[in-house]
Amino acid sequence: MSQSLENSKVFCVNPFIQAMLTAQGSMKPCSLFTGHVTDGSQELSVYETPVEDIWNSEHLRRVRRQMIAGDKVSECSSCYLMESRGEISGRIAANQSWGAALWGNPRNQSVGELAESALAGEGAMRSGPSWLYLEFGNLCNLRCRSCNSRYSKSIAKDRVHRRWENADEQPPFGLRGVGTADNSTEIRLRGSEVSSYSRLAPGKEWSQDREFILHELLRDAHNITKLQIGGGEPVMAPDTAWLLETIVSKGLSSSINLHFVTNGTKYDQKIADLIGCFDEFAIALSVDGFSLLNEYIRKGSRWRAVSDNVVKYCSAFPQSVYIKTTVQAYNMLHLVDLANYANSMGIRLQCHFLNNPRYLSCFQMPAKARKAAATKLRQYTSETLYPEVTSVSKENASELLKIAQVLEEAAGDLDPRTIADFINFTSDLDASRGQDILQLNAELVEFIGEAGVPWEPERP
Ligand code: SF4
Repeated sequence: MSQSLENSKVFCVNPFIQAMLTAQGSMKPCSLFTGHVTDGSQELSVYETPVEDIWNSEHLRRVRRQMIAGDKVSECSSCYLMESRGEISGRIAANQSWGAALWGNPRNQSVGELAESALAGEGAMRSGPSWLYLEFGNLCNLRCRSCNSRYSKSIAKDRVHRRWENADEQPPFGLRGVGTADNSTEIRLRGSEVSSYSRLAPGKEWSQDREFILHELLRDAHNITKLQIGGGEPVMAPDTAWLLETIVSKGLSSSINLHFVTNGTKYDQKIADLIGCFDEFAIALSVDGFSLLNEYIRKGSRWRAVSDNVVKYCSAFPQSVYIKTTVQAYNMLHLVDLANYANSMGIRLQCHFLNNPRYLSCFQMPAKARKAAATKLRQYTSETLYPEVTSVSKENASELLKIAQVLEEAAGDLDPRTIADFINFTSDLDASRGQDILQLNAELVEFIGEAGVPWEPERP
């Protein structure tokens, strides 16, 4: 069984080992999984259902059984799409981490053993998740164009940006009233009646409920080998330092690999010191462009602050910091500037393509624009532009070449409706934010015009 699972095109370790707890209290195996774990009609939430019951819900048991049987899982279509484009999907990355039997899999369990354990329980896992991925609230100071209300309270307050969200992302996306200023405990699960029942501390979000974190989430803490903390912006979340301190004081920082994802606009010395207590950790700085382009895409960020914090993180943790970039329509023609910056700072660049919202995807842009973006990357990575080749710049070159290849090979004609959405979304946000795509991305606008689509936004 193990051999066939290792070569399987659908098997993924994530549903067997990882629980991602969203800011709204719902759960899924990873960030790419479409939707959330449900009871068949509505999202299950830790405000109503214990973590253990969601972990072994019929939904996740069905996903595990399908993967073992070699059947495609509809919720995993993002990974299949990435693989069809030649990208390293979340599935492949997770399976590789597990197969390497390093920190994430200290007992060197094979995928066959995971599957046997699940089959013995008809899809239920005997032990809890060993990888935890916590979206530690959705408090965030930024309104990134590719983001939504689920991840940023600032976007939830932005009426123009919110108009562009689908119903799943708009408040109430799961819970209403929990942790709000009026301290209400009223909760409303999508599609259900308003309920005043919450099993967690009154008026608190799960990420602020220390009892829940200590006694439920970390109950089986010795089984946890990987902890990813994101947000929102975790440096702003009130209890991030407490969570890290708790793990360190329990002596778990030597057995847990910490992955901390921040937008880089804030630096907190206490949090930095606590991260440094872990034996193994990585700090991902979400940066989507160099200087003004980052400010354009990630509204609210100031490049001066981000670059100052990059210096602080790099000085404190030179081997453990990397830049995590979401490759999208807005930055695909400008990745060289960011790569140049990363190389000058000696920081690794890790790129992944944006899938949603669809109208911001590179794959919805004119093929000529993608080719031009790829050519720039190839030129940059050629030896002549590398007078000083370092191990980091070599790694970055190989990352950029992978991006170039996917951009070159991607097929598809312009979809008039999607490109119209891109134009209208961009214009709406530009107008409300005092920004102008022509100042930073005139080349892309020209490519769209050359493809026969004039830049003529409809009035909202
Ligand atoms: S296959 Fe992809 S979407 Fe499905 S659980 Fe694995 S990483 Fe997540």
